[in-house]
Amino acid sequence: MGLLSALKKLITGEGQEIPKSPPKPEEKPVAQPVAEVVEKPAEKPGDVKIEQKVEVTKEEKPVAEKITAGHVHLSGCTGCLVSLADNYEGLFKLLDDYVDWVYDLTLADVRHVPEMDVAFVEGSVCLNQDLAVEELRETRKKSKVVVALGGCACYGNVTRFGRGGQWNQPAHEAYVPIGDVIDVDLYIPGCAPTPQQILHVAVMAYLLLKGTDEQKELATSYLKPLMDLAKRGTEACGCDLMYDVINQSLCMGCGLCAASCPVRAIEMVYGKPQIDTSLCIKCGACYAQCPRSFLNLDVINEFEGISELVAAAMATGGE
Ligand code: SF4
Ligand code: SF4
Repeated sequence: MGLLSALKKLITGEGQEIPKSPPKPEEKPVAQPVAEVVEKPAEKPGDVKIEQKVEVTKEEKPVAEKITAGHVHLSGCTGCLVSLADNYEGLFKLLDDYVDWVYDLTLADVRHVPEMDVAFVEGSVCLNQDLAVEELRETRKKSKVVVALGGCACYGNVTRFGRGGQWNQPAHEAYVPIGDVIDVDLYIPGCAPTPQQILHVAVMAYLLLKGTDEQKELATSYLKPLMDLAKRGTEACGCDLMYDVINQSLCMGCGLCAASCPVRAIEMVYGKPQIDTSLCIKCGACYAQCPRSFLNLDVINEFEGISELVAAAMATGGE
């Protein structure tokens, strides 16, 4: 079954037992503080009887059908988080039906990394900052899937050029992509990645973890190019851009690679990038910026269809 037709079946439920929409969350009992009156016996005559009110909070039942996810913010510009939040009503749908957002410096009041199904890590990690390294290692330990969100987490991007000396963080000198410190399952490159792509990955991660075997297979097909990027590692150079994008006729001539190259090793000639590999310092910025670097030929012909179907899932999910 082709990826497109299988996804169509997934959304329409046609001819199979796959649910049309993700299972509805169980009704969450509202936690009600219960006041209990405890009477302290009077110990000797004249003692005043004390009424003590004890607040007991009933445990909330977790919503088992959703996956749990969070955002770990390391050294970056917060552009990836802005991109995630730019999903507008899609984000609400995601949070209503697919995901419980359990960790985030900005959106959740949680101090310690909890167990998570999916962790989106933004930014590179500063090796001079023990807390950041520890938070990253803790994230790996407690998450089933770790996603490097954006160019800095994947390849270091511009943060590779941080050399310390700033008045507020003078000792911060060594920034590396998160894959240099922990194993990463999936990369979403881009500076920042598009809101749509973050949404697609979140829906597919849901299917990967909560779906039927067929749904898991589909999600794996969709996510495979991004998993392959993570397997390949944390360094990308101008040659990778040439082989994976330009020579595959995937380049659309947007010029982002040339604009991002800090040593001007890329020049746009007649709408196509020309790379001077003798100048390249292998920072990966061009690869992280290129909107076509994560596509492969197995998926590209069906990409528009996939986008439409994920949009349909977002429109019908949980109803
Ligand atoms: S071509 Fe430029 S941006 Fe790309 S990896 Fe080399 S130095 Fe970095
Ligand atoms: S960023 Fe990618 S798509 Fe854009 S010009 Fe460079 S190689 Fe082509």
